[in-house]
Order: sequence, then structure tokens, then C-alpha cells
Amino acid sequence: AFEGLSDKLSAAFKKLRSKGKLSEADVKEAMREVRLALLEADVNYKVAKDFVKSVTERAIGSDVLTSLTPAQQVIKIVNDELTTLMGAENSRINFSSKIPTIIMMCGLQGSGKTTHSAKLAKFFKKQGKRPLLVACDVYRPAAIDQLKVVGEKVGAPVFEMGQIDPVTIAKKAISHAKDYGHDIVILDTAGRLHIDEQLMGELKNIKSELKPNEILLVIDSMTGQDAVNVAKSFDEALGIDGVILTKLDGDTRGGAALSVRAVTGKPIKFVGMGEKLEDLEPFYPDRMASRILGMGDVLTLIDKAQEQLDLGKSEKMAQKLKENSFDLDDLLEQMKQIRKMGPLSQVLSMLPGVKGAIKDEEAEQGEAQLRQIETIINSMTKAERAKPAIVNPSRKRRIAAGSGTKVEDVNRLLRQFEQMQKMMKQFSGMGKKGKRMRGMM
Ligand code: GDP
Ligand code: MG
Repeated sequence: AFEGLSDKLSAAFKKLRSKGKLSEADVKEAMREVRLALLEADVNYKVAKDFVKSVTERAIGSDVLTSLTPAQQVIKIVNDELTTLMGAENSRINFSSKIPTIIMMCGLQGSGKTTHSAKLAKFFKKQGKRPLLVACDVYRPAAIDQLKVVGEKVGAPVFEMGQIDPVTIAKKAISHAKDYGHDIVILDTAGRLHIDEQLMGELKNIKSELKPNEILLVIDSMTGQDAVNVAKSFDEALGIDGVILTKLDGDTRGGAALSVRAVTGKPIKFVGMGEKLEDLEPFYPDRMASRILGMGDVLTLIDKAQEQLDLGKSEKMAQKLKENSFDLDDLLEQMKQIRKMGPLSQVLSMLPGVKGAIKDEEAEQGEAQLRQIETIINSMTKAERAKPAIVNPSRKRRIAAGSGTKVEDVNRLLRQFEQMQKMMKQFSGMGKKGKRMRGMM
């Protein structure tokens, strides 16, 4: 998502940067481009207009233009205002002081309620909580089965009573949760293709009988402005606490992410980044703003790294680097850890400056190379991995045959590894400076 918007904004800023000194007219011209870029990204018309107005006022009204780095200052203002537009800070779930916390999921059919009920369950389980999923979408037996399937995948039990009144099911589910020590109950409700009286009636009923601590509206970012209108209607009719914006991994233009908060006053709390049940991220407006501005999202990357990387292993690696005993097995292990953070293209796109600089094909090539290195190392014996120097021509032929690669590929890997080892030797010989570098790894 956001590629088109990012490209247009950086083109506008590039022009500003090339000017050095800026006049009011320069800023206004750039803001005209920003406004067009926002509209093309399907941002709500009024939101785009107000946005550009406040950026322009701040940029012209202060001493930005006379500063030494006017273009930078203008970009910073855009960054700040984008952040504010999306809600300034991460909005968390309202947890109840009494167990269980009740989360009610609602939204149109196909928006991602069932998937995101399971994603949330997985997210909370990681925090040591014991979520219970509740099948309140009773109109199709398939909906209940779907919840059971995703519930099983994330290891969260599913409470269901077949196709009876959802309020009764939800009430029974709460007492079941109390009996079995579930601290969070997630109600997966029914949706319709369009908002109608009957749907709203049912949801209002559940709301007034169950008093959920959190009503989360699930909206599909692919539907752009429609998603924002849906959010407005749901909030007016039912009252919502926050939004889960789904399918942000697709080629959505990003307008919903930028408009929903301004139009409804309700924050985005999570974003869905894929069909897999771990593809859920808490929403941080500041990080999203810098992603849009192509400044990368190093913080989310660090979060992911901390989540996925095994700290014990990382320390062991640092020690090995210090002793210069890092071998091919260690390289394999490091690569696996990186791979756990997601597809290479996704990981790279969060780095500042990389966005746009690396094309999808290139990321795919990189991915293929990583896979090839893994298969080659996998075809080596323990002794060869520990001491690549013993890999003679006949061993090379065996390894190439075993991994379905060519001898040249094996040679390339060995050569690269040798270079890496040389570099590491230099680092470990660098004393204090070397230590600092290792501390960063
Ligand atoms: P519900 O009708 O609101 O319960 O929607 P579902 O949870 O059944 O999701 C509808 C479809 O959207 C399914 O095919 C999901 O796999 C897909 N989906 C849900 N969330 C995401 C997401 O974040 N990214 C992508 N690409 N697909 C999603
Ligand atoms: Mg569903």
C-alpha cells in the first residue's frame, strides 16, 4: 500500500529540495501537488483540503522559510501533520478491570472480522493472555466452521452453540470464560454486504446486553472511501471504540488509513497486513507517516526483530564473531532468523531509503539467493560447515549435486563467506570500535 502516494510526495519534495531558498509560492506549489497526491490516494476530499491548509499555514507562518533547511522543515511539518491526522499515538485496547474483557468485532461481510478475531487471539496469547473466541455469526454454518479452523490454527478455543440467538450465545460464552479462566472474550459477529436496519439492530442488541469493553469495527482498506463511509455509519448507529483496517498488504491506495480518523474521530488500533494469522500490527500513526514519506519504519522492524530473534542466540553469535569462530552453520542460523521476520521485500521496505529503491523483482532475486545459500549449506556435512577450507573440488561437486545447484554457485558462496570472515577479522581487531559495532548487531 501507499507506493503511489509515497512516490508522488517524494517527487514534490524533491523539487523543494532542489531549490535551496523557498518562497511562499514554492510552498504553495508543492502543497498543490501534495493535495493532488492525497486525492489520488483516495483520501477524503475535505480531509485533504484541511491537511494542506494546516501544513501551508505552519510552513508560511513561522520562520521555516528563512531557516537554513527550509525543504527539510516543510517535510517535517508534513510528517507531523500526517501523524496527527492518523491519531498522534498508538491507541490501545480498553481492558476491563473485571475479567473477562469483552471485545466485539463488527463490520461488513468480507471485511475480515473472522480472520482478525483469530489474529487478535494470537496477538493476546503472545502477551500471556487466554482469549476465547465466540461464534456469534449464526446465519451460515460455514461461518462457525471458519472460526473453528482459524481458532485451531492460533490455539484459541472457540465457543459456539450453533445457529441460535447471538445474544444468548454471547452471554453463555461470558460465563464459560469466567469458569474456565479466559481473560479476553472476542465476539465474532455477523456482517452483511451493506449496512441495514436488521444488522444494526442485532449489533445494538449485543452491545446493550453484553456491554463490551471494546467495539472494534473491521474495515477493508481496499474499498477506500467506502470503508470510511461505512465507519462513519457504524459509529453513528452503534458507537465504536476503534478500527481495524485490513488488507493493507494489497494494492490499496491508502486513502482509508489517512481519512478514517479525521472523518469518524475514532482511531485505527490495528492493521491487517496479510492473510496469515500473524499478519497483524498495532497501528502507530507516527510510524505509518514515516513509512508513507519513504523514511522507512525502523521502529516496527526493531519490534519484529525483538519478537522473532532469540536473544540467547544473538549473544552467542556476537561471542562467536568476537572469537572469530563464526562458521557456515552460524551463517545459516542468522539467515533463518532474518527470514522469520517476513519476506525479504517486506523487511527491506521498512528500511529508510530502501523503499522504492529496490524493485519487487530485485527483492525476489534476493529471496531466491537466500534460499539457494540455505540449500547449499544444508547439503554440506558438519565438518565442511565448520571448516569450509576443506571443501575440495570433489566435495564441491557433491554439494552442488546434492543441492541442485552448480559448482559455480558453491564457489560463489564459499568466496562470499571468506570475504565475510576477513571483514569480521578486521572488526574484531579494531578494539574499542569493533566492540561498538558488535554491540549494534
Ligand atoms: P468476515 O466476513 O468479515 O468475517 O471476513 P473474513 O475474515 O472471512 O475475511 C474475508 C477474506 O479476506 C478472507 O479470504 C481473508 O483471508 C481475507 N483477509 C482478511 N484479512 C486480510 C488481510 O489483512 N489481508 C489480506 N490480503 N486478506 C485478508
Ligand atoms: Mg466472518
